[in-house]
Amino acid sequence: MTGLYVHIPFCRAKCGYCDFASAPGSGEEMDRYLDALAAESARYDALAGSFSTLYVGGGTPSVLSEARLRRLFGIIEALTGPLEGLAESTFEANPESLDAAKTRLLKAAGISRVSLGLQAAQDRLLKKLGRVAMRQDFLRAFSGLREAGFGNINADLMCGLPGQTEADLRESLELLLGLGPEHVSLYALEVHEGTPFHSAGIKEEPEAAADMYGAAAQALERAGLLRYEISNFAKPGRESLHNLNYWDQGEYLGLGAGAASYLDGVRRANTPVTSDYAAAALAGGEIPLQHSEKLEGRAKKAERVMLGLRKTSGIELPEDIFIEFKPEIGRLLEAGLIERTGGSIRIKPDKLYVSNAVFREFV
Ligand code: SF4
Repeated sequence: MTGLYVHIPFCRAKCGYCDFASAPGSGEEMDRYLDALAAESARYDALAGSFSTLYVGGGTPSVLSEARLRRLFGIIEALTGPLEGLAESTFEANPESLDAAKTRLLKAAGISRVSLGLQAAQDRLLKKLGRVAMRQDFLRAFSGLREAGFGNINADLMCGLPGQTEADLRESLELLLGLGPEHVSLYALEVHEGTPFHSAGIKEEPEAAADMYGAAAQALERAGLLRYEISNFAKPGRESLHNLNYWDQGEYLGLGAGAASYLDGVRRANTPVTSDYAAAALAGGEIPLQHSEKLEGRAKKAERVMLGLRKTSGIELPEDIFIEFKPEIGRLLEAGLIERTGGSIRIKPDKLYVSNAVFREFV
């Protein structure tokens, strides 16, 4: 299976905690960016027809106007063919820019799955995060998606936010679960250097966040959304196929600023600087890379183990990998962080919150 990822680096406003390649953009910048995407995608004509999943992420892809969205889907379909033919096609949206007309356009374009940002149900927390959409905007966008016939919706939720209480998180979960989403991604706040939160001295609260995360995970599972990856919960059969391909070390092509690819054993990522990306793509030159690495030997095997361990089902390992990482696996078994069943290993369910300690063994 091969995935296609397309990055749209524009947002209405920058959230205080965000360290993704995203920023507000003018209409002119968006048009230039679409020109660049068309030029970059034309370089991959040879891959046309080989994709089985699509993920349009950002940024906020729904900030594009209807005319620009039509153009975007034209560029994408030159590589994928009609989107209805794909096993899954996800489009990321934020409520402030997802109106009824765009929702209908996504449906008509053949998008099968929409990922919508909620983060929290309290306007006071959303304002603190710098989010544009408030609780009512989310409710309107979600019901609009259902009315348009979308039967596969993900919502993003956060915990460990400054000023967020356990009661707030419970209320957010009640609101969300009352809507019956097929998939929820749950993240604890991370404060990265270079973000407004970092400059403002806002600190992560790992212990409180871990407690909140544990309680939220239980509530999601009780509601039938089963945890299948460290941060992801889904109704059975609604797991994200596109992301499962990442965790299975499958191949994918990423188009756009900051987009990562894994093709022919090479992992690389385009520059996240939108203007540099667009200038190079439009000039027909090499797109500057943020990094590029040929994965082989022990590094490739280590990555396979780390990605596979992100899934709650774990990973089935061939004998040669068991032998290569015998000391690491032995230490983790002894520390009670992972468990082995036959040829498979997985992180123990109650140790998923310390998964980084597991991954460190394989770096
Ligand atoms: S909407 Fe998402 S990508 Fe855009 S600034 Fe906020 S967190 Fe970042």
